Amino acid sequence: MSITPQVSLTAKLTINTDDHRPPTKDAVVPGPAPTPRELKVHPTNPGGENATLTFVGTATTLLEWRGLRIMTDPNFLHAGDHVHLGPGVTAQRLTNPSVSIDELPPIHLVLLSHYHEDHFDKLVEDRLRRDLPIISTPHAKHHLAEAQAKDEPFVTVTALDTWQAADIHAVGAAGDANLKVIAMPGKHLPPGILDMVNSALGAGIPPTNGWMVELLGEGGKTFRIYISGDTLMVDDLKSIPEKFPHVDLMLIHLGGTSIPGPNLPLLMVTMDADQGIQLVHLINPDVTIPIHYDDYDAFKSPLKDFQDLVTEAGLDKKVVYLNRGDQYAFKI
Ligand SMILES: [Zn+2]
Repeated sequence: MSITPQVSLTAKLTINTDDHRPPTKDAVVPGPAPTPRELKVHPTNPGGENATLTFVGTATTLLEWRGLRIMTDPNFLHAGDHVHLGPGVTAQRLTNPSVSIDELPPIHLVLLSHYHEDHFDKLVEDRLRRDLPIISTPHAKHHLAEAQAKDEPFVTVTALDTWQAADIHAVGAAGDANLKVIAMPGKHLPPGILDMVNSALGAGIPPTNGWMVELLGEGGKTFRIYISGDTLMVDDLKSIPEKFPHVDLMLIHLGGTSIPGPNLPLLMVTMDADQGIQLVHLINPDVTIPIHYDDYDAFKSPLKDFQDLVTEAGLDKKVVYLNRGDQYAFKI
């Protein structure tokens, strides 16, 4: 029998949502709040929407609620640009983000699942304002705030290990917002020798977090958003529904990202359609939104495969599909 993990509070952040500065260090004026290309709502129970999620591309989304704007995994490269994903491994971007980094509205917090270039590219690393609060892994903090960023480190990076949590209190003219961000398990590599070698060498595939974001809504009701991060469907994830039996919204990183392995022609490092539908069954969220599915040539599992499995499982009314620039409005 497994033991339900304990969440430990390790950080407290206060955020001023009246801070309207642009998120980049050199821009003078921030962009406007994104206008949705297409607006989607709950498939069976719409109404009372007071929060939005905009899909920018790859795993980049903007979550807005009570004046607070959170950006996930910022990746603002364009089609034709390349990222480095491991020793000797590059991937080419095939799509464009729905907004450019220069058009971004004010951002109050960045949630970074892991320090990998399709989630935090060189352009982003160069351009983001150094005092922009970032929550990520200890590995990412090491790179962003300590090691290679010595000249110009990010100064407000909070590192969370699995099951560690940060309490966030946001205040501003739009009202107060209280939320908790908890680091969820994630495995970018299959458990085993390769994983051990990778950790020992400190090279290649970085450690990754998922996130449980708990937003404290009206009447003390908690709205839970689970973001899978770049993970495979591994046993570690089974603790999540034990601890969080109800999830309102799941953002699932798909794509079946495949990179050349040491001895194998291709090694899969994110969920493909088959693993994705397994995670939907495991977490059983009220609504699932797939992200990270077609932006790089290393993403080998088409979204259509996942859609087919969703239909086969009779879950069409529980999945919302967003193209880049589309927005999902929902009620917290
Ligand atoms: Zn990725």
